[in-house]
Amino acid sequence: MVENIFADRMNNVPKSFIREILKVIDDPEIISFAGGLPNKELFPIDEIRNASNYQFEFYGSEVLQYSTTEGYLPLREFIAERYNKNKGLNISADNVLITHGSQQALDLIGKVFLNDNDPVAIEEPGYLGAIQCLSVFSKKFVPITLDEDGLNCNELRTACEQFSPKIIYTVPNFQNPTGISYSIEKRETIVNILKKHRTFIIEDDPYGELRYEGKEADSFGKLLPNQTILLGSFSKIIAPGFRIGWLIAPDNIMDKLVIAKQAADLHSNYVGQRIIYQYLKDTDLDKHISDIKKTYNSQRVAMIESIEKFFPKSVKYTKPVGGMFLWVTLPNNIAATELLNHSIKQKVAFVPGDPFYVGKSNVNTLRLNYSCSDEKTIKEGIKRLSVCIKQLTTI
Ligand code: PMP
Repeated sequence: MVENIFADRMNNVPKSFIREILKVIDDPEIISFAGGLPNKELFPIDEIRNASNYQFEFYGSEVLQYSTTEGYLPLREFIAERYNKNKGLNISADNVLITHGSQQALDLIGKVFLNDNDPVAIEEPGYLGAIQCLSVFSKKFVPITLDEDGLNCNELRTACEQFSPKIIYTVPNFQNPTGISYSIEKRETIVNILKKHRTFIIEDDPYGELRYEGKEADSFGKLLPNQTILLGSFSKIIAPGFRIGWLIAPDNIMDKLVIAKQAADLHSNYVGQRIIYQYLKDTDLDKHISDIKKTYNSQRVAMIESIEKFFPKSVKYTKPVGGMFLWVTLPNNIAATELLNHSIKQKVAFVPGDPFYVGKSNVNTLRLNYSCSDEKTIKEGIKRLSVCIKQLTTI
């Protein structure tokens, strides 16, 4: 029997619910708000092709060789300088480890910090990929409710006192799945709590550059540098296919993370690192990000306006000022999974809230993605979804 041959650590690791849904809705007629993909129309194909040609023409076989575990030094320097300039951090390339997407950074953190039953504090609802990845290492999650302006600090205080978690996982800007961002006041309170404990905050920030309104609040990487591991990625601002992200960590824990990286895969895709670096040298990344933001912002506005127009007033939703998602709360008696069964028949898909919670199921919340559908499609999809919600509300 094949069941008995697997390691215990895989017993509690959930399947990616989203990937399962994406399989079911593999029908071109379906309007999908389910995925979390960046819009492929915005990938800088010509610039990447030129960067790639340049690397092979001028550096040839060097680009195809093994490289250092930490990552391509000029790329790490670029990343460090950008944080220092744009976010007021005070780091060097030595604090930057290039990873295989920021998802791999989570895996390395799990390996370096977590024993079997070490409590992991995590936003509730929280990022599915983090729940999945960290559950390989520990079975014990401590959920901390997410308020409109960030973590619930009473719960955080109690969790720190009761469980002394080694890590707390957060997405402070345009959170996946809710779209909310932590206010500066919340960030400062969190810092004051964490300073009294040996807890590291994982600041996962793949969406931070996609801000459409308002002012940026300081990063935990700036506010609490000695207890923050900051994760970043080119997935949402260049292209996810490269699988190139990074982690930024204080000197005293970097060595262990580098050893874990070495053990995992020696180093990240070197060809990809060289091409991305060439792209960054030759093009204006800020201009490219501003083009992405223009498109996503129009789609975001279309989604919010359509929800306002079509959804019953009993339905609540977040109005994110950046990122790719918003979060809907249905009336208490409607489970989002039930709504999905109805909406698939009307050819609209989304992700029900269940998998984003470490403890609850049959919740009345759901995530909508707006980065991959044009405005007209968004309006039509929200209209159809509103019909399904109204049907369930009156049952
Ligand atoms: N963290 C969050 C919050 C994400 O939403 C995603 C992608 N959906 C990731 C990490 C993974 O990103 P990457 O492509 O860099 O591995």
